[in-house]
Amino acid sequence: EAKAKGRNTYHFYSQELDAAANERLFIESELRLAIKARQFVIYYQPQVDSRTQHVVGYEVLIRWFHPTEGMIPPNKFIPIAEATGLIVELGTWVLQEACEFAARLAVQGRENNISINLSARQFKDAKLVPLLASIIKKTRVPAKCLHLELTESMLMGNVEAAIAQLHQLKALGVSISIDDFGTGYSSLSYLKRFPVDILKVDHSFVKDIPDDPNDMEITAAIIAMAQKLKLNVVAEGVETIEQVEFLQNNNCFIVQGYYYSEPIAESELSSLFEKLNDRAGVYP
Ligand code: C2E
Ligand code: MG
Ligand code: MG
Ligand code: MG
Repeated sequence: EAKAKGRNTYHFYSQELDAAANERLFIESELRLAIKARQFVIYYQPQVDSRTQHVVGYEVLIRWFHPTEGMIPPNKFIPIAEATGLIVELGTWVLQEACEFAARLAVQGRENNISINLSARQFKDAKLVPLLASIIKKTRVPAKCLHLELTESMLMGNVEAAIAQLHQLKALGVSISIDDFGTGYSSLSYLKRFPVDILKVDHSFVKDIPDDPNDMEITAAIIAMAQKLKLNVVAEGVETIEQVEFLQNNNCFIVQGYYYSEPIAESELSSLFEKLNDRAGVYP
C-alpha cells in the first residue's frame, strides 16, 4: 500500500516537474523568435504625485503577447532570458523603446521621467555604458529623465565592481533606483556606500496597509531614513486611498499602483490623463 502510494506520489511530482521543464523549454525556444516576430510590447505604469494628481513619470514594464499562449508575464520569461543571455538583446530593445517614448512625451510637453528595470546580466555588462550613451545620443532624450532600477541583490557580490559601474552610469547623467527595497539583505547604512538616488518601497510592505501595524512601521521607517540619506522615495503597489493617505502622512508623495493605474499601452495614456484631470499637456 505504502509502496503504491509512494509510486503515485512519484508520478505526481514527476509529471509536475515535466510540465515545469517543458514550459521552460518552450519559453526558451519561443523567446528566440519572439523578438524578431515583434511579440513584445511595452506597457507604462504611471507614477503619480498624489498631491496634484499629475503623472510625473512612468515605469517601463515589458509584456509578451504570444500568438497561441496569450500574455506571458515577465516573471515567467525574464529569468529565462537572463539565464540564456537573451536578456541583453531584449534589454537593449527595451532601452531603445523607452528612450523613444521619453522623446515623444517631451514633444507633448509632458513629464518624461522613465524608470527602466535592468537585469543582473545587463548591469554587469561592460557594454551597458557605451550602449546607453549611444541610445541617449540618438534619441536626444535628456539623460536626467532616465532612472535605472536595480535590486539590492545586484549590488551584493562584487561590491567594488558594482560601485564602479554605478559611477560610470551616473556620469552619463542618469539616476539610479533601488527596486523592491526592503526585500533584499542590504541595510540603509550599507546602501550609503552606493551612489543611488531613489528607493522604491516594495509592494509587500504597502499591500497590507492599514491592517498590518508592522508593515506600517516598516514603511514609515524606510521613508524617514531615506529622507535622512537624501534619497527620493517612490511607493510601489499602491491600491487604495487609505494607502495613499498613509504615505502622504509619512511624506511619501510619488506613488505607483493600481489605485491610479495599471501598466497600460501608450495608446491608453490620453484617457488616463482625462480621468486624472491631468492637464499638463495634451496627449498625443
Ligand atoms: P517590478 O519592477 O517590481 O515591477 C512592479 C510590478 O508590480 C509589475 O509587475 C507591476 O505590474 C506590478 N504592480 C504595479 N502596481 C501594482 C499594484 O497596485 N498591485 C499589484 N499587486 N501589483 C502591481 P509585472 O509588470 O508583472 O513585472 C514583474 C517584474 O518583472 C518587475 O517587477 C520586474 O522585476 C520584471 N520586469 C518587467 N519588465 C522588465 C524589463 O523590461 N526588464 C527587466 N529586466 N525586468 C522587467
Ligand atoms: Mg521595477
Ligand atoms: Mg518593484
Ligand atoms: Mg520585482
